[in-house]
Amino acid sequence: MTIEAASTAGLHPETRLVHAGTLRSQFGETSEALFLTQGHVYDSAEQCEARFLNKDPGFQYGRFSNPTVSMLEQRMAAFEGAESCRATATGMAAVTAALMSQVRAGDHVVAARALFGSCRYIIEDLLPRYGVASTLVDGTDLAAWRAAVQPNTKAFFLESPANPTLEVIDIAAVSGLAKAVGAKLVVDNVFATPLFQRPLELGADLVVYSATKHIDGQGRCLGGLVLGSKELIEGEIQIFLRQTGPALSPFNAWVMLKALETLPLRIRQQAQNATAVAKWLKGRKELPHVAFIGDPEHPQAKIIAKQMSGPSTLIAFEVAGGKDAAFRFLNKLRLIRISNNLGDAKSLIVHPATTTHQRFTPEVRASMGVSDGLIRLSIGLEHADDLIADLQQALGG
Ligand SMILES: *Cc1c(COP(=O)(O)O)cnc(C)c1O
Repeated sequence: MTIEAASTAGLHPETRLVHAGTLRSQFGETSEALFLTQGHVYDSAEQCEARFLNKDPGFQYGRFSNPTVSMLEQRMAAFEGAESCRATATGMAAVTAALMSQVRAGDHVVAARALFGSCRYIIEDLLPRYGVASTLVDGTDLAAWRAAVQPNTKAFFLESPANPTLEVIDIAAVSGLAKAVGAKLVVDNVFATPLFQRPLELGADLVVYSATKHIDGQGRCLGGLVLGSKELIEGEIQIFLRQTGPALSPFNAWVMLKALETLPLRIRQQAQNATAVAKWLKGRKELPHVAFIGDPEHPQAKIIAKQMSGPSTLIAFEVAGGKDAAFRFLNKLRLIRISNNLGDAKSLIVHPATTTHQRFTPEVRASMGVSDGLIRLSIGLEHADDLIADLQQALGG
């Protein structure tokens, strides 16, 4: 085996996404091999002992590591500019590991309140059950973050842009505060994509992805990634993952590894399509609100210009007339399909109030910016004109 990760240092991101982390076997295969194996055999009992003592490099058991999973981790770390990366079975497993590994009973977490529903469950319901208190704040208000800090605050969590409202948080400012109070900042970077926002460079300690979204990008496999310093990833996080077991299947890792080769091509095209669709939606007088990261009139355009290099592939907009009007519109669409997934090559649309954010009370939903008429649209790889034509006929011509 040869490890080629080091050889891509200093090369462009696109090059790293094709070559970084490749582990080539003795057969010299061109495409990365799928090592669909649970475990590994040893030449001797002595070698087995040395492997368990970390004195002999190599693999042991699929819950700890796997050559195909390791290729994905190294390629993603090289792309993100992180010292280390670990893959997980889902995005939520990555979020859970990132948070649980930083806290213990008696600690406190501060998080932005506009979060993906399951992330909010971890912060608001799960952690407090085990003695970790949490405070939810308006993530766009730095004074609110500061006011929420307690002597036992150990972690900050945020998502930017947030799902589904596309609200943006100043990551460098929040990270400055986290550093000042000795808390670790965890950023869920799913909506931005690894191409358009680099939270580690903005001061985050850990970045998490649902690789289910743009990284797979073709609606096939669930997966998650957590990235950061060697100390954090190969310390508490690796131990947490190894002992609790949310390992990524080698098959899913292989699909995602190959998907990384085309990530920039796909995301740039999807973002270009999203820009065209958002511009068209903004021109429709009957839509009271259209949110898009690439819109120069986005309320946080200044922060976007500072921390993002592209517009994401998501659009959020409001139809007048609440849930009934939203459902009528969704049911008329023919090409754009109703699905709660996102980041796919296929354009997908969802009504957050009755799906991803259904379990919250109307008051909480309102505080998160999720109104009854709000629609989230994930733009895919179809031609933008076909998407616009479908939206046009569904909006009534
Ligand atoms: C989908 C998503 C998750 C969870 O990822 P899974 O792979 O579904 O577990 C977390 N955060 C955000 C922002 C998401 O969109």
